[in-house]
Amino acid sequence: MDEITIPKISFVSLGCPKALVDSERIITKLRAEGYELARTHAGADVVVVNTCGFLDSARAESLAAIGDALNQNGRVIVTGCLGAEPEIIREAHPSVLAVTGPQRYEEVIAAVHAAAPPRHDPFLDLVPPEGIKLTPRHYAYLKISEGCNHRCTFCIIPKLRGDLVSRPAADVLREAERLVAAGVKELLVISQDTSAYGVDIKYAASRWKDRNLRARFLDLASALAELGAWVRLHYVYPYPHVDDVIPLMAEGKVLPYLDIPFQHGSPAVLKRMRRPGRQEKTLARIENWREQLPDLTLRSTFIVGFPGETDGEFEELLAFVEEAQLDRVGCFQYEPVRGAAANAIAAPVADDVKEQRYARFMQKQQTISAKRLKKKVGTRQAVIIDKVENGAAIGRTRGDAPEIDGVVHLSAWRPLKVGEIATVKIERADAYDLHGTVVGF
Ligand code: SF4
Repeated sequence: MDEITIPKISFVSLGCPKALVDSERIITKLRAEGYELARTHAGADVVVVNTCGFLDSARAESLAAIGDALNQNGRVIVTGCLGAEPEIIREAHPSVLAVTGPQRYEEVIAAVHAAAPPRHDPFLDLVPPEGIKLTPRHYAYLKISEGCNHRCTFCIIPKLRGDLVSRPAADVLREAERLVAAGVKELLVISQDTSAYGVDIKYAASRWKDRNLRARFLDLASALAELGAWVRLHYVYPYPHVDDVIPLMAEGKVLPYLDIPFQHGSPAVLKRMRRPGRQEKTLARIENWREQLPDLTLRSTFIVGFPGETDGEFEELLAFVEEAQLDRVGCFQYEPVRGAAANAIAAPVADDVKEQRYARFMQKQQTISAKRLKKKVGTRQAVIIDKVENGAAIGRTRGDAPEIDGVVHLSAWRPLKVGEIATVKIERADAYDLHGTVVGF
């Protein structure tokens, strides 16, 4: 009898949560066709590398990952953001089997079929209906749209991924329902610009359950809230209609958490960046949100050393973060990404100046973040358990997103399970994390 061989794929997923969602889709499809995931490149029939092409450092990482896969296996298919520029990949690694761009799921699958034909077997075609997730089982990213209609001068995403394409609301809801039915307790809503959701399809309604659901940011958020999982909103811009979601947060339907990439605090720099949203009103808006919802957690990212950034503009940025008192902040030194319009706008800021500004910014923000975290000491917080290892458990409050924010180190009178939500008395805070004891469930 012939030995049964099952085609095996090794998969490398680089880049942001959005790329991770693409990887999950490709893997789900391949698993449904009977492919297996290999533990090592060497043990696979073919390697798929999902690349990131946003920053030069990410491109270098992607090219290195392709090189590793070629050395260890030799049969490599490249997809993802860097795949939008095949000449770069082919120049560095002429022997790759195929190169496809972001979201070209069918092309990736076709390339896999050509390299390692699928073996049809009804017993192998079993894949859980919720798909394969690369993130832990209790939280999942939910991509609601792709691409972006803005043209921020430092960003090449619209070039790589095109203009905004929103998914119909019913599609998003059905995926969310499947995830929740499979045990997901937290949905992380992502896109390039979550607050612009539905603009491209003129907020068209689609049929979900017994009603027509419009593709509007607010309608989608409230429908997702009905599923009973935590709903966390990422990549929201401060458009006026974002104010409408605050009452949903106050009612406990959506997590009191907003991830808003402000990028700068100087109106002149924001103008040069061509950022969306009415930035001049941002501080007043934050104040208003906090009045309605005192425990709102605000996360943001900033860029220091944007071309032409003067000392005065940098001081404005520091004054902005002092005033805004944000909870969690990430900061990047400007990197001249190839193809970004910003590179030609003004003279680059010298590397040592960027470095100094970065250090000053981080120092200031660390003090603010630590002060805000300290306010939680003595309070009771709902905490979702992320990890249990050798009796020690780590979780997150409603104010902490996985992978980017802080954690809570827990002690408890009984063993905790990953994915359960406990009430925790917060006893101590350090620079980024909290420590507490479980007092209930
Ligand atoms: S909003 Fe700006 S930074 Fe964000 S994806 Fe669109 S163009 Fe890029």
